[in-house]
Formats: sequence, structure tokens, C-alpha cells
Amino acid sequence: MATMIIEGERTKAASGKTYEVRNPATGEVVDEVPAGGPADVDKAAHAAAKAFATWSKLPNNKRAEILHKAAHHMLQKVEEIAIILTKEQGKTILESRIEAQRFGENIAWFADLADKIHGSHVALPDTTTYGLVVRKPIGVCGAIVPWNFPLTLAANKVAPAIAAGNTVVLKPASTTPLSTLACIEALIEGGLPEGVVNVVLGQATGEAIVEHPLIRKIALTGSTPTGRKVMAKAAEQLKKITLELGGSDPCIVLDDADIEAAAKAVSIGRFFNCGQACLAVKRLYVQEGVYDALMEKLVARAAKLKPGNGLEKESRMGPMHTETQRAEVEAQVKDAIQHGARVVFGGGRPKGDGYDRGWFIEPTILENVADGARMWTEEVFGPALPVRKIKNLDEGLRLANDSAYGLGSSIWTASMPAAYRAVQELEAGYTWVNALQIAHDELPFGGTKQSGFGKEHGVEAFLQYTEEKSVVYGGVG
Ligand code: NAD
Repeated sequence: MATMIIEGERTKAASGKTYEVRNPATGEVVDEVPAGGPADVDKAAHAAAKAFATWSKLPNNKRAEILHKAAHHMLQKVEEIAIILTKEQGKTILESRIEAQRFGENIAWFADLADKIHGSHVALPDTTTYGLVVRKPIGVCGAIVPWNFPLTLAANKVAPAIAAGNTVVLKPASTTPLSTLACIEALIEGGLPEGVVNVVLGQATGEAIVEHPLIRKIALTGSTPTGRKVMAKAAEQLKKITLELGGSDPCIVLDDADIEAAAKAVSIGRFFNCGQACLAVKRLYVQEGVYDALMEKLVARAAKLKPGNGLEKESRMGPMHTETQRAEVEAQVKDAIQHGARVVFGGGRPKGDGYDRGWFIEPTILENVADGARMWTEEVFGPALPVRKIKNLDEGLRLANDSAYGLGSSIWTASMPAAYRAVQELEAGYTWVNALQIAHDELPFGGTKQSGFGKEHGVEAFLQYTEEKSVVYGGVG
């Protein structure tokens, strides 16, 4: 049975309660895990506060060295961690390998920044004094993670936090705790001191983290409704927060685009991780002149995405993570069809041996989706894509911005002026021009509108795990 990681202990829940983690492809039990609660979060917060006293005072270059060693050790275990991730999450083993690798690389990327924190000197009018701005770590940080990319999204929080000298209480989604435990265990084996990252498990631990007075900052990746609840709760203690929430990313393809490259990017952008991605092409707007040709290419690509158990070599798309999640996407597709949409590809569940044991679904492409249909207004968190024909860029931009969300966005065009307008006018935290929607370590990532605020990735994320303090030195003249 798996255990939580709290300081030096591998511990069960204080309540003694447990629950089962099941494989979305087979329904089999992968492991039994503790169902933690507020008492466990309290213990973890105290462990993190104790560790902060030493971790935050380490010389920055020493902290960088420890993190590099720990990341290196973790990276030796990518293959075994990837198998655990596929078993608990459902994604293909190829997708799991990429994700496990990204976890270690992310720790190393921020380790590089650990000894480059700097403040500034400010001249003051009174020349017998001088001013400084110094940067300090915040303290204990809470990291709350969803199930779609358990490792990437944990690393996005843990890596900048600990590199800047903070300590962490980490809560994976209740359905994907095992690969996270394996990663943190590997970091500890590689030299990360106990207590710097503590892992609590169970649904109830999320709220308890937000409420715990020792935890000074909360970083959540999750749905927009959860973001609202966390923000309201965190406001009671005026905690710092970063909210990476839902998205409904538009993609515009104009007549002058390289449609081969666009089709590839749209297909990966929509169907990677069985469509369960925050950054994903969720609404496609295609100009009339290339509409038919692009659709043909998209269908050809979708036809190659064989659904199957992620551990089997020939599978190109795993199952959806849960029955509820699949039912939600199916209801959105049904709503579109009831309002006159035409199914261009997929639209149902794959048939054949073994498919009835897991939460499988076909990659789906729809056209003629009516205005106001759920697929346009809600986040579609699965492999179903609504496509709409547009006359020109103006129409594309208007439709693209007609959404409550503002996470990612993309445009395919050979025209610099068109690309420039898209960059200026698309209401999103990220715009890709003629490029695959990949969140790079180097660039700050985060949403606008109902997709949240605050940044992960980049120097910007690192700085958000520090606080500035102004200092006046007197008596020096
Ligand atoms: P969710 O909001 O249900 O849960 C996310 C995490 O928050 C889980 O660990 C959950 O246990 C915890 N949680 C739930 N209620 C809480 C509360 N009241 N207080 C504290 N913690 C609470 O999301 P999910 O279904 O696990 O993930 C899918 C959602 O995440 C989608 O909307 C997706 O777009 C979003 N997402 C966003 C990004 C991004 O970077 N913007 C990335 C991936 C996923």
C-alpha cells in the first residue's frame, strides 16, 4: 500500500481511511492509498515549516547543487515512473515517458536559477542612507494538482518553489497520486532533504491546504469552478495565489497557411493525452479556401489514432481518465449533434475486444456546430473538436475571443500582418504563430479572463515564489 510522504515518515492517514486507485483502461486496482485529511495536512505543514528554517538558509549555490543531483537521480527512473503514470492515468506510455522526463528537467531548469536571485540597490535622497530591495523566499507553499498531467503540473509548482528556498505541501489529484509519490521519493533518494517536499493524499486535503495558516502561498491547477472556491477561501487569510484554470483555446487557420503543418499541430493539439489538456486546440476556425483540404488531413490523422491500453505498443490514444469525464464529453458532443452538427469523424466509443473494460472514446471531429452549443461555450476536456468555416481574419478573431476563457491560442498564416494582429488581439496568455502548442520552460505560462492568473514556467514563475523586501541602511554617511 502506498503511503504519504511527511518529513522523514512514510505515513498512513491519521483517520486510517484508504481508497483505491484504478486503471482507467482496465478497471483494475493499481494500489490502495491513504485518504488523508486536515490532520495530515497539519502535520505536513509543520514538517515543511521546520524544513524551511534550514532549506531557506542554505547558500543558494548549495541548494542548486542538491536540486541538480536530485533531478539527475530522478531522471534515471523515468521508465519505471512512466509505467506507473500510464497505469493510474491512462495515457500512452510514450506520453508518460515525455511527462516523467519533463518532471526531472523542470527541477533542473529551476535549479539553474537558484543561485541567480538578485535584488537591487536604490539611491535615496538622504545620502547618509541607502536603499536595497532584497528577495526572500515566501515560506511554506501549497501545490494542488489535477489528474491530466500529474507530473508536469506538480513540477511547475514544486520546482520554482524549492529552487527559491521555499518548502512545499503537495497534493496530487486523488486519482493520480502514485507517479507523483515515485517522483518525490526519487528526489529524496537523490539527496533532497526530507521535509522540503511533503506529499499528502486524498480529496479532503485540498481545502485543508488552502485553510492552513502556516501555508503562505497556494498554487492550483484545476477547473475554473475550483479556482473560484480556492480564491475565496485563500482571501480569508490574504494568501498569495496562482490559478492555472480551464481553457478553450481557439486556433485560426487562414488560406495562406501551411496546411500540412497546421493539420499536424491541430491533431496533436486536440488529441494528445486523449484531449485532456488545458492547453489544447479546442475550437478550430478555418478560412473557406483551405477548409476542405484541412478537414481531409485532419480526418486522415484522426483515423491513425488507435485507442487502446496505454501500455500496449500499438495504442495511439489512451482511455479517458474517468467515467464521469467521458460522460461529460459525450454529453457535449450529443448537444452539438442535437443542434444540427455533422459528425465528420468518430462520435462514439470504439468497438472490439477489451474496450468495454475502460473509459475509451473515439477521436471526434464535428462541423456545422451551432452558435451557443456547449462545445463552443464550455471547456471540452476530451478528444472532440468543433470546426467552423470563416470568411476572413476579422471573423476568426471575433469568434476566437467570444469565450470566457483566455489560456492559449494559435494562428496559422504566411502573412506577417495577420499574425501580428492575432498576437495583438487574441485574448489569451499565450499565442503560437505557425507553431505547435507547447509550453516552453523558458516562457511564462498562464491565463487571462476565466483561465486564471499568475505564471508558471520562466523566470517569472521563479520570482513569484519570492517576496521583495525594501531595506534602508542608515548611518552610513
Ligand atoms: P479540479 O478542479 O476538479 O481539481 C484540481 C485539484 O484541485 C485536485 O487535486 C482536487 O482534489 C483539488 N480541489 C478540488 N476542489 C478543491 C477545493 N475546494 N479546495 C482545494 N482543492 C480542491 O480539476 P481536475 O478535474 O482535476 O482537472 C481538470 C481541470 O484542470 C480542467 O478544467 C483543466 O482545464 C484544468 N487544467 C488547467 C491547466 C492550466 O495550466 N491552466 C492545466 C491542466 C488542467
